[in-house]
Amino acid sequence: NRAPVTVIGLGSMGSALAKSFVAKGHPTTVWNRTPEKADDLVAAGAVRAASVAEAVAASELVVVCVLDYHAMRELFDPLGDALSGRTVVNLTSGTPEEARETAKWAAERGFDYVDGAIMAIPPMIGSEEALIFYGGPQAVYDAHSASLATIAGAGTYLGEDAGLPSLYDVALLGLMWTTWAGFMHSLALVKSENVDAAAFLPYAQAWFEHVISPEVPGIAGQVDAGDYPDEGSALGMQAIAIEHLVDASRAQGVDAALPEFLKQRAQEAIKRGHAGSGFGALFEVLRKPE
Ligand code: NDP
Repeated sequence: NRAPVTVIGLGSMGSALAKSFVAKGHPTTVWNRTPEKADDLVAAGAVRAASVAEAVAASELVVVCVLDYHAMRELFDPLGDALSGRTVVNLTSGTPEEARETAKWAAERGFDYVDGAIMAIPPMIGSEEALIFYGGPQAVYDAHSASLATIAGAGTYLGEDAGLPSLYDVALLGLMWTTWAGFMHSLALVKSENVDAAAFLPYAQAWFEHVISPEVPGIAGQVDAGDYPDEGSALGMQAIAIEHLVDASRAQGVDAALPEFLKQRAQEAIKRGHAGSGFGALFEVLRKPE
């Protein structure tokens, strides 16, 4: 006997969430601003609510996934008491500040609120690999964790702070963009001499596997300890190597802004006394800019 669930917002992601609840046997009520987007879900067994208020009345657990927090508040603000006794799980992406502000607003309005950040694309929803971060009152999360396990096998509760899921979300987003951008910069360099990306690819992949990834736990350990011992590649030496990267980028007619940024930050770390430290000392500069 699966618990009833309401899903508000049936864009690419909301539809995938609702589809997963329906498929696993949750009585599912749906609402979307453009009602036709519910047609397929209704054909699959979901119930179409005529208004947000009707959708919220149908289930204790209300999952929201709309474009942004502004749209979410626009939908929920007019509801008044209709929300009392409900748990809203907001899977709309945003900033930690927006999430905390919305949690405060929910507390003032007297309904339970859990914020979430989806770290998956729509086709992954419902699978064991799908990761969703959650933050909010533990008891509220626990009461609905079984239903939430339907949409993501790797649902992870981060604690009471509603802002942490969004913080993890943007942190991982930044990791993805900067890593990919670094790879694309390396491709820009080799392509400037008409080397095929495919020819360079095996070396880049081996570099990721044998050089970049294995350093990650060590960096995390140094950052937690606040101590950055050199393990044979001191920052003073690395800063010179980065200069080669800047100069070569310019000479090849490739965008040099990315290596320039690294050079400047490495020099700042050296200025702060880290010439003999490992490259993990760069963290100090990123954590606390001048
Ligand atoms: P879509 O653009 O596909 O859908 C947006 C949804 O928001 C639609 O249901 C739309 O309604 C609704 N909406 C927008 N503005 C308003 C408004 N003012 N009032 C009411 N409803 C509104 O986006 P996604 O479904 O892809 O994304 C939804 C959320 O999920 C976003 O925060 C996104 O960052 C997050 N997310 C998405 C991922 C993805 O891969 N798609 C991955 C991880 C997170 P209508 O149909 O009427 O336009």
